[in-house]
Order: sequence, then structure tokens, then C-alpha cells
Amino acid sequence: MPTAAELDRYRTGADRFIARLDEEYYLHFAGHKDELELEQIYAEHADLTSLASAQRMGAAAAAEPSFRMRELWRFACEGYLGGLTREHAERVAALEASLEADLGGQQVGFRMLRPTIANEPDRDKRAQAERARNDLTDQHLNPLHLEALAVEEQALRSLGAATTLDLYKGFGLKLDELAAQCRAFLDSTERLYEKSADKLFRDRAGVSLRDAQRYDTVRVMRAPEWDPFFKADLMVPALKKTLLDLGIDLEEQIRTKAVFLDDEQRPNKSPRAFCSPIEVPGKVMLVIQPMGGADDWRALFHEAGHTEHFAHTSADLPLEARRLGDNAVTEGWAMLLQHLTDEPAWLNRRLDFPRIDEFAWEGAATLLFFVRRYCAKLLYELEFHRTPAARIGDLRSRYVELLGDALKIEPSPTDYLSDIDPGFYVSNYLRSWAFEAQMRTHLKHEYGTTWFARREAGNLLRDLWSEGQRLDAHNLLKQVTGAEVELEAVAERIREHLR
Ligand SMILES: [Zn+2]
Repeated sequence: MPTAAELDRYRTGADRFIARLDEEYYLHFAGHKDELELEQIYAEHADLTSLASAQRMGAAAAAEPSFRMRELWRFACEGYLGGLTREHAERVAALEASLEADLGGQQVGFRMLRPTIANEPDRDKRAQAERARNDLTDQHLNPLHLEALAVEEQALRSLGAATTLDLYKGFGLKLDELAAQCRAFLDSTERLYEKSADKLFRDRAGVSLRDAQRYDTVRVMRAPEWDPFFKADLMVPALKKTLLDLGIDLEEQIRTKAVFLDDEQRPNKSPRAFCSPIEVPGKVMLVIQPMGGADDWRALFHEAGHTEHFAHTSADLPLEARRLGDNAVTEGWAMLLQHLTDEPAWLNRRLDFPRIDEFAWEGAATLLFFVRRYCAKLLYELEFHRTPAARIGDLRSRYVELLGDALKIEPSPTDYLSDIDPGFYVSNYLRSWAFEAQMRTHLKHEYGTTWFARREAGNLLRDLWSEGQRLDAHNLLKQVTGAEVELEAVAERIREHLR
């Protein structure tokens, strides 16, 4: 059993390890540094993610099943498993970067196939690109995914778990309850989805839901007609004004170096906004390369939600509550700010925006699509993570069945291995959508429809952000509203705009 002093050393080490990783991710994805060099960082902290450490933390968590001990155990397990399959992940990334498909004489890189499908107006050509993508996935990537699964299965036994599902249930994830909520959500929104998705696909891709194919989906989700209202040069000013209305002075946070706003243009910078919490609190990077368009605005506000959560987290909290804990909480705060960008009252106040109701309708229809997709994904991942690696091939048809039932669009069976979020992250997104819907209802009830422009609402948020992830989403919501995280709240939020 680890001593108290050993645990303290472990926490300090983990704190530095995560800071180094986040710094490396920032430098690479912000375009300061070509290579993403993780090997050296893992080597310097090898003891944190060794099998022996994971087993010692597991024994301590079994003896003292507290929040803190369980989080350290989970951190050690995820580090150990991630280390074993890192080589596979790197080989997958290298293949994705180098594989090419021949589209009628034109060579297109694997990673460019999705954007190609989204931007291709000709349906036959979309179908052709989709087939090429599926063939490459099955021939080159899936064998590597299978190899990694076999390695992971061996390792799970040494951690005392038969399957990934067993391991995560041990960490306290209530996945069966969430799965029941997902089934209920799929049921209660079935008719609404069929109607709204049919209209969305007809309007944007000229096909009915019945005739829609997977290669139409990416195109439907890209909605360029709204781009003119979400201008690139207005993004950061709109964010600053929104935060200031809540009593949060982003300029001041930048001056005191609590937040670094990196909005410079660099050739190799990730086109998508991200947040890298190098020190929590004290050095939180909010990175953006403003391009404009509704999706870019959504991404900035989402990442700003993470940024403010980490920047306000109390320095007095232990590592487990500052850097570990339930990520549905930080995703929930991110969703709360993200969804301001399709909130009619906010659009009215912040932007010169026509057809607000139509935009809100589309936002709700799109949200319904994604929540249903994630519900089906969770149901699939539960089956996936309790199936032995030797029998995993049987799940190709289950993947098609579960995702197809939820979306009424047949997915590709070749995605049955890659459409998996590591560590049941899918459950964080599902709960964060519910958390956002319930927190928004509470804020509207307390502070009115323009709650986002009220100082008092900002004070409450800052207070809650200072708790970091000491409480899980369930207990945090309960403390504020008295209610439990309930997916049906998202259905109600969606119905509000689809009526
Ligand atoms: Zn997020």
C-alpha cells in the first residue's frame, strides 16, 4: 500500500507530467513546433504510468474508495494502457497522414476525404469518395486497431479487470443508468427526429431522410449559407463582450497572464480552436485561428467555456479536483458557452442577425442528430467494451444496426473499430448536453431569458467554476438545482425550437 508521502510525490509528479503534455500539445497544435514529441515526456515520468504504479493505486483505491484515490487509480490505469498502445496510435496517425485514394485519376489524402465529401455537390462523386475511404479503413487501419485491442485485453487482466467495461465501472461510471436514459431519449425523440431530419436533409442536400446516405451527412452538417453573419473579425470581440456582461474581464485575465489568448495566424496552426490548460489555474491557453462561420464561432465559445472553467478553478484544490475528476463538468461549462451562439436572445443582442428562428430551428435539429448519434454510440460502446478481442468482428453488424436505427442512415460497417471514444468519453458529452440544458433552464429561471448578460449569473458561474471538478456533473447540478442529470432535459430543450 502506498504511504501518504508516496501519494503526495505521485500527485506532484502527475501534476508536472500533465503540464508538460499540455504544453507540448499547445506548442505543436498552435504551430510553434513541427514535431509532437511525447516520447521524452513519457520517459521522464515513466514511473507514473508503470504497471506497478497502476496496481499500487488500485490496491489503495480498493482499501479507501474515496474520490481522490479513485481518480489517481484511473489516471495510473489510463496512463499505463495508453503507453502500451501509443505505438499503434502513432502508426494509425502516420497511415492517416500518408494514405491516398485515387478518385478518377486524382490522388486525395485520407484525411482530406471527409472534407472532399462535404464540399462535393455531385452525389455520385461523394459516394465514390466514401467507398475509397471505407476501403482504405478496412485494408490498412482496421488491422492496427485489432492489434491494439489484443494488447489492451492482455493488459486489462494485469489490472484485475476482464474487460474495459469492468475497469470503468470500477472507476464509478454509472454507465447502465446512462444507457437506460439513452434508450428512453431515442424512444421519446424518434418521431420528432424523423420529421426534423427529413426537413434538414431535404433543405440542405435535396434528399429525403429515407434516401439519405452517409456521404450526404457531412454535407448537411456544413451549412455555408450562415457564414456571412458569423464574421471572423467579430469573434473575439463578441466573446470579450459576452464575458464582460457576466463580469469577467478577459483583457484583465490576459494582462495578469491567467489566460493566454493566441489568435495569431501561423502556417501549421490547427484550424480548429482548442484550450490547453497548462497550469490549472494560472496558465490556460485559448487558441484560435479565426476563420469565421457558425461552426468556428461555436468552437471558440466552447473552448472559452473550458478556458474560464480552468482559469477560475481554485488553486487550493488538490490535483484530483483541479486536473482530474469528471470531465462531463468541464464539457458542460463548454457547452453552456457554446450554445449561446444559437440562442435567439443572445443572437439578438450580439449580432445583426436575420431569420433567427430559422437558425435556432436548424441548431436544434442538428443537436438532435448528434445527441441521438451519441446515444447509439454509447449503447454500441457498451457492447464493444465487453466483447473479447477474438470475437470483436461479430460487432460489425451490431454497429450498423444500432447507429442505423438511431439515425435512419446506414453507417459504414468499416467504422466499427475507429468510431470509439477512448475511456467512454462519449458518456461525458452525453451528460454535458444534459448538464447544459438543465443549467440553462435554471439560469433562465433565476435571471431571465438574458441571463447571460447579468452580473449575478456571472457571479454564480465563477463560484461554481472555482470548484474545478471536485464534484461530478451529477452532484454539482444537484447542489445548484436540486435535480439529477437527465437526458430528457435535452429533448425538452430541442422541442422548444422544433415546435
Ligand atoms: Zn470540449
